Amino acid sequence: MTNKKLGLNTICTHIGEVKDEQFKGAISPMFLSSSYEFLDVDIKRYPRYFNTPNQEFLAKKIAALEHTESALIFGSGMAAISTMFLAFLKQGDHLVVQNTLYGGTVNFIKEEFPKYGIDYTFTNGYKIEDFEAAIQPNTKLIHIETPSNPLMTITDLKGIAELGKSKSILTSIDNTFASPVNQNPIDFGIDMVMHSATKYMGGHSDICAGAVASSNKHIERIWNVGKNLGGSLSDMTVWMLERSMKTMGLRVKAQTENALKMAKWLDDHPKISKVYYPGLESHPEYDLVKSQMKGFGAMLSFELVDGLDSYKFQKELQLIKSSMSLAGIESTVISPHLTSHALLTQEERDKVGISDQLIRFSVGIEEAEDLMNDIENAIAKI
Ligand SMILES: *Cc1c(COP(=O)(O)O)cnc(C)c1O
Repeated sequence: MTNKKLGLNTICTHIGEVKDEQFKGAISPMFLSSSYEFLDVDIKRYPRYFNTPNQEFLAKKIAALEHTESALIFGSGMAAISTMFLAFLKQGDHLVVQNTLYGGTVNFIKEEFPKYGIDYTFTNGYKIEDFEAAIQPNTKLIHIETPSNPLMTITDLKGIAELGKSKSILTSIDNTFASPVNQNPIDFGIDMVMHSATKYMGGHSDICAGAVASSNKHIERIWNVGKNLGGSLSDMTVWMLERSMKTMGLRVKAQTENALKMAKWLDDHPKISKVYYPGLESHPEYDLVKSQMKGFGAMLSFELVDGLDSYKFQKELQLIKSSMSLAGIESTVISPHLTSHALLTQEERDKVGISDQLIRFSVGIEEAEDLMNDIENAIAKI
């Protein structure tokens, strides 16, 4: 059975199952051993080596979903990204990184890279020219995020891959926001894909995990660093993640459908001044979006008109929760100016377009009509 021929939901359901040879149960057994036989075995198994049965098999599911040869599961999205960076960057190397990036990744780069003597440049924007301008002779990796948080800018995957290849620089992407359901960057030539599996892969706001998918060669290099850093995921959580991922296709498609409905509705709403969503024709990169995303995703942002207090608005929502994280089956909202961008000055926030009126919306699987009513009622109360 080859992975490529199978459809999304079949991969989600079946690839990477650990067979229950002993009792022939329907689902993967959970192997909690931290100690395995070492005499006459092909693989020396150990949880920190990312190769217990559950770890090894779940990685196959992620590789199949991202169209790669191989993958590794980590204890968090940050464990995945930090291990990937440290596998390909050493003292004297340079990283080109997109200016709009997950806050934790920005912190990792700014706080840790100087200790290792690794240099970096944040781009001035998300266009290919911005990346090209940031490249130096010692650049070893270009790292991007598309759609980006929270304004949903879109970076050209094929353009980045071609830029990297033309200069023998590797390329990597944080594909968390799109999920493998809506975007497969490897198909456009990007070398490595990482995920915070805490988000759509887990999907129920109860798991913290991460993943990297790439070729055997790159994954081996990441493994070599990963076993030293020790960021593997416990088998109990691996098992929960496998269970969650069986429904990822169903969940994310339902969320994506809801998000398009919500984006259109919000766009027409007199009390909403702006909507940022890759699926709206008014999105500046709409054509590019259609060429590289299979679905538009379930993340969007919108601005309340001046005079409506965004804090009070969130307090009045009944169904939609205010929440730090995202991508669960429940709808959540967050104020970037109070969270991810709180440490910037007002002037810096104005420059990157994060107003106090901006709300990021992670659309869940509830009925869209109920979400609309919730927003309508909250607006009416303020
Ligand atoms: C949450 C998140 C991360 C970090 O993942 P953790 O699982 O919290 O370590 C990285 N990138 C993006 C886009 C995220 O949303």
